[in-house]
Amino acid sequence: MHGWTGKILNVDLTSGRIWRSNIPEHFLHEYLGGRGLGVRLMRGAYRLDTFDPDMPLIFAVGPLCGTQAPTAARLAVVSRSPLTGTIYDCSAGGRFAWRLKGAGIDALRIIGRSATPTVLSITGETAELLPAGDLWGKRVKETVSLLSGRGSVAAIGPAGENGVLFANIMMGEGNSVGRGGLGAVMGAKGLKAIAVDADARTPLADPARFEHARADVMRLFRASPVIFGELGIAEFGTPALVDLMRQRRMAPTENFRKTVFAASDNYSGPAIKRDFQAKKDGCYGCPIQCKKKHPTRRASSRIRDGLAFRRTERHCRSGGHCPVEHALQRAGDGYDLGCRYPGRMGRGDWAFPRSRGAVPPAGSDRLSPGRR
Ligand code: SF4
Repeated sequence: MHGWTGKILNVDLTSGRIWRSNIPEHFLHEYLGGRGLGVRLMRGAYRLDTFDPDMPLIFAVGPLCGTQAPTAARLAVVSRSPLTGTIYDCSAGGRFAWRLKGAGIDALRIIGRSATPTVLSITGETAELLPAGDLWGKRVKETVSLLSGRGSVAAIGPAGENGVLFANIMMGEGNSVGRGGLGAVMGAKGLKAIAVDADARTPLADPARFEHARADVMRLFRASPVIFGELGIAEFGTPALVDLMRQRRMAPTENFRKTVFAASDNYSGPAIKRDFQAKKDGCYGCPIQCKKKHPTRRASSRIRDGLAFRRTERHCRSGGHCPVEHALQRAGDGYDLGCRYPGRMGRGDWAFPRSRGAVPPAGSDRLSPGRR
């Protein structure tokens, strides 16, 4: 078999047992990609309580991950959401998925609950659980920094540790498993972080046909105005969709009471590029690079000075860490953030009224509170 490795890494945090097993081959034929495989591996567990130690937390990748196929370096994380009670899957970019595949596995299935905080470290074909008492309570950035040298990291912050129902799992490169509260599932298992460092290649059955198919996909991408067009997401990231949605009268405005938001050009792709000088970034090997890198120091100071998006004390009384401001300093955020805050709240700026108690805790999903 090519593409799939046919292997799953199982980790029981209660007993500390780690073992590899074969994935039934028909799963790989019948279910599409990492999401399909991850959801299939949930069968038999979906009636468990979200925080039951036996509830699996699954990280899965697809057969094209690890190849040069565009947009294939995506990670699917699947479990039962503590927020919605449904089986939930989140997709994250970065390099974690590529490295997981490089470790020779299609999926990582974690069950059990560790008695003390722990980190799962995967290096090539080996995996071990490390004590993480000194990491518990730390924010994601510090956790990732302390695990540097162990490859790509997926970690939770205080939100996941404390069972916040919209807690994220954050990827070390800044991507997030950001909806549905799967960070709280990881926290309930006592698992602070997973680090993976491996680089085995995904074998191709027919490299010439693969290259032909890849070239076809790239041609179609280039023909798409939304992807590689002058105002497309390769240039402006997903905020490129702001103008498209406005033009089609589909912008979720004032919590969906309206569909056109007159001030949306304040957070359109061109506006963010103009005000924050965002640079291209993206998932491993993806030619689109729809994410945007941290802006320059000058852009950050423009936010502080209230020049960009007209932040004022009247609008934001946080006096400190404001998640929207922070998000904009990263300027890697996309269409959703723009719609959730200015658009949905019907405000023409990025103000965020902390006084309403809506500031998300560290390591949580910034989009969930973005509603009135
Ligand atoms: S860079 Fe953007 S388009 Fe490419 S895989 Fe990542 S999220 Fe998808």
